[in-house]
Amino acid sequence: MTKLDPQLASRLTYIKQPGRSAWSDNAPVEATVKQILDAVRQSGDAALRDYSRQFDKVEIETFEVSTREREEAVAALDPQTRADTEFAIERVRSFAQAQRDTILPLDVEPLPGLHLGHRIIPIARVGAYVPGGRYPLLSAPIMTIVPAKVAGCDEVIACLPPGAHQAMIAGCHLSGADRIFRVGGAQAIAAMAFGTESIPAVDKIVGPGNAYVNEAKRQVFGLVGIDQLAGPSEIFVVADETGDAITIAVDLLAQAEHDVRTRVGLITTDRALAEATLAEVERQLGNLSTAGVAAEAWRDYGEIVLCADEAAMLAYSDHIAAEHLEVHTSDARATAGKLRNYGSIFIGVAASVVYSDKCCGTNHTLPTMAAGRYTGGLWVGSYLKTCTHQWLDERGVAAVAPPAMRQSASEGLEGHRRAAALRLAPAQLLQEIG
Ligand code: NAD
Repeated sequence: MTKLDPQLASRLTYIKQPGRSAWSDNAPVEATVKQILDAVRQSGDAALRDYSRQFDKVEIETFEVSTREREEAVAALDPQTRADTEFAIERVRSFAQAQRDTILPLDVEPLPGLHLGHRIIPIARVGAYVPGGRYPLLSAPIMTIVPAKVAGCDEVIACLPPGAHQAMIAGCHLSGADRIFRVGGAQAIAAMAFGTESIPAVDKIVGPGNAYVNEAKRQVFGLVGIDQLAGPSEIFVVADETGDAITIAVDLLAQAEHDVRTRVGLITTDRALAEATLAEVERQLGNLSTAGVAAEAWRDYGEIVLCADEAAMLAYSDHIAAEHLEVHTSDARATAGKLRNYGSIFIGVAASVVYSDKCCGTNHTLPTMAAGRYTGGLWVGSYLKTCTHQWLDERGVAAVAPPAMRQSASEGLEGHRRAAALRLAPAQLLQEIG
């Protein structure tokens, strides 16, 4: 997180401050992950087996989940869960398809005889990491696998920890994963980056996971593409005096129950709402079945910030760049239009983050840790490359060769100058070359 501007800081009052900083020392994780990556690169499946024994306490003979196991996992879903999963898949698929339809190839002729353009090309092979987690979150495979299929990738493989709930295999299967492997953590990322005897190397790795998974993605970036580095979930609510403390507290706790490191907060111009929300969160924690996790997240990372005016509220929200940002103001659309930094924005009281988390169709894999300053979340475009092309006839060559030759000559790049000149005046250049 960048440093808060002191002028803005002077316009904020913390009604509740986080108990801890969201940043922690990553050095031990970094070293462990480096070792795991090296071992998998050198020893392939044997290293995967060793780490699965060490971290997951299982002996794995075959990493790939068989067709029969996939079918059994789907058959084991109760009918309502299956119907709800298919509903979510269809929502995510249709929104991803609508987004895909906006990504168009381009061909222009900016000067006579000079043709420029781009093609949209799906990434060939993608690896989706599907995290274990406290609960079997069926939405996790949907969000990473379905848009890859919509994009038209040739092959989408999924890796999930061996201890993952059987329903997660069903989620991968129904989402359209071509191959599914039982391997988790940094070793799964290593396998997808380098390839092993059992697991093919991919071109891009997507999907959230714990600190080891993230650090592994960071270390293999470059050899393969990655979507982003996903930290713990975040929700902030921007609200004026029309905000409702009960609704805000419900939505903050709905994210806080994900993880003890979830960052949640209210940013408001209204002191009464700030104080009412503080009391309401405490009250609701009293009878929430997941309070063990949610209360710790709230204590350590929960915040309520009272802002001097609307401008300070918007500026602080843009500073945080929350993964999920709810807007509860008298004119929520207008407020949303003034905000710049967030992963996904939820406009008005009816738009709960939970709808996007589960099934409304927008992708829930979103930037955390203020990455919303420079990127949006995972989407169908994350699986596509926009690759430019050019072709010229003699009019195009006549327009661009002379400046290209002069630039090359002034840079001292004689080879460049020759390549530019050859197309313009071949006979002359061939004579020069001798
Ligand atoms: P995970 O799948 O991220 O990691 C499990 C793996 O970590 C195990 O297979 C094991 O091999 C490895 N591991 C465990 N202890 C280790 C150690 N000491 N050293 C090296 N490797 C070790 O599952 P998780 O740990 O349950 O965490 C799930 C994460 O995914 C959470 O951080 C959660 O917030 C996140 N999540 C995000 C979303 C989302 O869509 N944004 C959804 C679900 C989960």
